[in-house]
Amino acid sequence: MKLYRKHGAIIVESPILVGVAGFLSLGKKGYRDAKAAAFFPFVFVKSWEYAAPVFVNHERIHFRQQMETLFIGMYFIQIYEDLYSRLFLKLKAPEYYLYRAHEQEAYLNQANLNYLKTRKIFSLFKHTKQKQRIRFIEGQNPLVEIY
Ligand SMILES: [Zn+2]
Repeated sequence: MKLYRKHGAIIVESPILVGVAGFLSLGKKGYRDAKAAAFFPFVFVKSWEYAAPVFVNHERIHFRQQMETLFIGMYFIQIYEDLYSRLFLKLKAPEYYLYRAHEQEAYLNQANLNYLKTRKIFSLFKHTKQKQRIRFIEGQNPLVEIY
C-alpha cells in the first residue's frame, strides 16, 4: 500500500481495497473492473495510473456527496435506486450502477476539472430526479456517453 498527495486528494494505492469496494458496489464484476473508490478523505486506486485527474475528480465529486449526505444518506439513496432499477427497470450490471444518482453526477461531470469550484450544494439530488441514460465507452474507461 502506497500513499500520495495529488490533485487535491490523499491517494492510497491498494488493489485489494479497490477490489473490495468494487465488489460491495457491483459484485464480481465490480471486483474485477473497479479502478478507484472514494471514502473521504481518501481516494483509493487500483494502481498508480488511475490517479489521473479525471479519476481523482470523479472520486472527489463523491467526497462532496458523502459529506452532504453524512455518508449514510448516499447509501440509502443507492439502496433505494438499486432496488428500483433492478426490480422495476430490470437493469443489469453495469447499467444499474450507472443509474445511481451519485454515479450519474460523477460521470457526467468528471471531465470538467473545475466542476467542484462551481458545483451547487446538494447537486446530487438533481440526479435522483433527472436520470440520463449513460453507458461506458468501450475500452475508454472511465469515459461515458449519453444515449
Ligand atoms: Zn463513482
